[in-house]
Formats: sequence, structure tokens, C-alpha cells
Amino acid sequence: MRRKLVAGNWKMNGSLAANAALVAGIKEGLPAAVCDVAVCVPAPYLAQVQGAVAGSAVALGAQDMSAHASGAYTGEVSASMLLEFGVQYVILGHSERRAYHGESDAAVAAKTVAALNAGLVPVVCVGETLEQREAGQTNEIVGGQLDVVLTALSVEDAARIVVAYEPVWAIGTGKTATPEMAQEVHAMLRARLGAKSAEAAAKVRILYGGSMKPDNAQQLLAMVDIDGGLIGGAALKATDFLAIVNAAA
Ligand code: PGA
Repeated sequence: MRRKLVAGNWKMNGSLAANAALVAGIKEGLPAAVCDVAVCVPAPYLAQVQGAVAGSAVALGAQDMSAHASGAYTGEVSASMLLEFGVQYVILGHSERRAYHGESDAAVAAKTVAALNAGLVPVVCVGETLEQREAGQTNEIVGGQLDVVLTALSVEDAARIVVAYEPVWAIGTGKTATPEMAQEVHAMLRARLGAKSAEAAAKVRILYGGSMKPDNAQQLLAMVDIDGGLIGGAALKATDFLAIVNAAA
């Protein structure tokens, strides 16, 4: 039985004041032990949010990291830096990074290896564009993105990742995949994990992301292969985020 994970992806949003209010609101309304909960915050706020979530059930996550350990990589942040701030999860290969920063499948795979070696839980994002879906290429694209990562991992490490299926056309658009559409892709991804190892297929949590909201979360999270959510817009309001956490119960 996989424990569900609801992770907020704050993206490039927030301020010291807004973060303090948001985390306080989440902590205040957080139900006891219904699922794992995390907030993935912009790097400059890691220290602040580390302090704010201390002693609560809210885990801390980052939104990206370098595959390199240290050195001449201006603007980059390493796994060991994230660990110093109590980070447990790191989003890797988000479609915004793939689209705006040219992150390739190979780069995402290298980051995933570095995260696992450091003891972080990578949340590996995969997803197809509208054009690719309409051309019938969803499984090929999304499955292919996961396969490149799995090829770089040992059988043991493959069971330690989290996968997030985020159809690009559903991110921030208000358009959500229907539960059945999402389930179909999640089942395909689980089969790819199964081709790596039965343990990976059984253990890896596959989150759905893309306009998950209080009013659609319950139906999505009821699907057999949907093990949680990666939440963008709705993670910026404590009541919405908590409603999704409760829907995972
Ligand atoms: P959204 O973003 O919930 O605002 O669609 C999800 C994501 O990009 O992680």
C-alpha cells in the first residue's frame, strides 16, 4: 500500500510575509497523518520555511538542483546545500524547466542520480504537450521521459523515486485530465517501472499534477495508480491546499 503524497509546488511565488502566512495556515489546518505533505519552495526561502515547518508533519522540498556537487556553476544549487536546510524532496525535470531552460531527459536523469546519491527524494516530472497528445504520442513521450531516468538508475534506486505525471496542457490552464485519462497514463508509467523491477512498480508513488484543485482532487486521487498530487496554483492558498490533502485521506 503506497502512502499518498501531496506536494505544493510554489514555483516563483512568495515573499517572507506571504510564506509565513501560508505555512501557518497549512500547519493550523493540517489533519493528522492522512498522507505525506510537502511544500517545494524557491531556494532563497528554504531557511525560512525550514524554520516554519520544524516540528510539523510538513516536509520541505526544492524545485530544482544541479547534477554537480560543487564548483563553477553560477546560479546553481547543489544537493548538499539543499540537505543543509532540511530538504527531503526535490522536483526535477518540471516541464517549465524543460521548456524554458532546455533541460533534456539526460540532464533530468543526471540530476535524479545526484539527488538519490545525496539521500534526497527526487520528484521526477514527465508530461506531454497538447500537440503530442493530439498526435497520439502521449505514451511514447511520457514513457520515454521516464525510461531515460530509469536506465540511469540501479534497480534499488528506481524504487526510491517519486514520479509526477503533469500533462503540459493542464498546467496552470484550469484544464485537468479526466481521472480516466490520467489513470491510463499512470498505469502505463507503472508498467514501465515494472519493467525495471517489481519493487519499483509496487513502491513508487506516481503523482498527478496539472490544475489539481479542491473540486477535482478526490476523483483523481481515487484512481488506483494516482498516489498523490503535485499542486501549483492551489498550493498558494492554505484552504485549497488543505482541501486537497484531505481529499487524499
Ligand atoms: P498547476 O501546476 O497546479 O498550477 O496546474 C502544477 C505544476 O506545474 O506542478
